[in-house]
Amino acid sequence: MAEEQSPEVLDDIRGFESISMEEATSILGEQTRMEIIVELGKAWDKHHHQQQKLRFSELMEAVGLTDSGQFNYHLDKLVGSFVAKSDDGYWLPNHGMKLYRLIVSGTFTEREIHKDIDVDDCLSCGGTVRATYRNDNTLVFTCGECATGYAVIPFSPGGFTNRTDDDALQAAFRSFYSELRLARQGICPACDGTMETKLVTDLNERLDSLSVSGVISSLKCSVCNNYYYSDLSSVALTTDEVRRFLIDSGLEPPLVREWNEVTVGADESVTVVEKDPLRVEITFAVEDEVINVTFDSDHNVVSSTRSVE
Ligand SMILES: [Zn+2]
Ligand SMILES: [Zn+2]
Repeated sequence: MAEEQSPEVLDDIRGFESISMEEATSILGEQTRMEIIVELGKAWDKHHHQQQKLRFSELMEAVGLTDSGQFNYHLDKLVGSFVAKSDDGYWLPNHGMKLYRLIVSGTFTEREIHKDIDVDDCLSCGGTVRATYRNDNTLVFTCGECATGYAVIPFSPGGFTNRTDDDALQAAFRSFYSELRLARQGICPACDGTMETKLVTDLNERLDSLSVSGVISSLKCSVCNNYYYSDLSSVALTTDEVRRFLIDSGLEPPLVREWNEVTVGADESVTVVEKDPLRVEITFAVEDEVINVTFDSDHNVVSSTRSVE
């Protein structure tokens, strides 16, 4: 029987098999191999808008090795696991690119970017909400004067590249809200696994300290332990109903922040209207326009009504 041909637009990626966690870490735990992944990830063919495949000698030169035996030994460990090989050269398949992207985003390497950015006025005290970029790659929003902690948002060091601080903050919020939206819909933004999406009302000490209303949105991945805890307002902002309401009111949903009047008011409005089955109501108000949204325990919108006060 003739061998099946891939359509021309698809690169041939046959030959990859599942490997154990032990194999993966033993393959990757070596400097030359990580350099091979970085050099292949960097190589870009501008003319064809695709990865540039590198030939053996080009790749060896890019990595800076001269001993082809030694180089071949390391490359051989990667081919079929994280690196693909075709007649015209070596390149990274999707999972190899994913590794490269994590490295280049600075997530593994950058610990020194430290920034304090003044963001906005604090609604509770009139002080200044400040964004601090911490060396665990998170942006922390707090008011130094009244010591209110508003939000912690993950953001890769690469997000500051080619952006002003203001643009970087906007990017962080947009990125976070699209993550939160996916997570609320049950899809883990980190690994595509299923998220457990629960509204929690029986809080413990830790959750209680995070909550304004006594209700916490808890989104947790069943595969990779990626998790988000927040007041209901942030998650409610990602629903079609609240997004449409805010857009109609002239606001941009991803940029409505935790310390804005709309959000603070919404968190204070959260009410448990029914315990079994759980129904929680939240109200957003912009000037005299109001939306009431009721959620079930899985963050589904059970009902929503708009009115003018
Ligand atoms: Zn304050
Ligand atoms: Zn996950």
